[in-house]
Amino acid sequence: MNYLLDFATCRCGFRTPIQPSTPATEAADRRWIETGGELPFVACMGRKRIYKPQVLESDASIDGLSPYHPGAPLHVCQESIECAEALHCLPITVIAVRSSDTIVEDLQQEKTEWKGKGLKCPRGHVQSFPSGWE
Ligand SMILES: [Zn+2]
Ligand SMILES: [Zn+2]
Repeated sequence: MNYLLDFATCRCGFRTPIQPSTPATEAADRRWIETGGELPFVACMGRKRIYKPQVLESDASIDGLSPYHPGAPLHVCQESIECAEALHCLPITVIAVRSSDTIVEDLQQEKTEWKGKGLKCPRGHVQSFPSGWE
């Protein structure tokens, strides 16, 4: 069976499927299906870099994507990073697409290695977390 997924591409070239494609949507106006809003940050599997996808490309996938397609080998995990600048900000949502058998502890360990540039909380505070900026 073939699925159509939206792929985000990291600067390193690594492509990550983040959600099923909605055929009716224009490529330039892809939104995050979870919220109907802005695209989330994505933690690249290649170099553990966090980036904000600018565009999504629709492409075919044989395996699909969990939890949208139960049993798929890849699963969308959602993590949040607290704003370090001010109280009462909503946390930053970062999605990490990992193999479905990844356990919570593995992801928490990996999260400590994430790095990114220009990571902003929903109120626009630029984060100095996590450390190890590029
Ligand atoms: Zn990357
Ligand atoms: Zn903030």
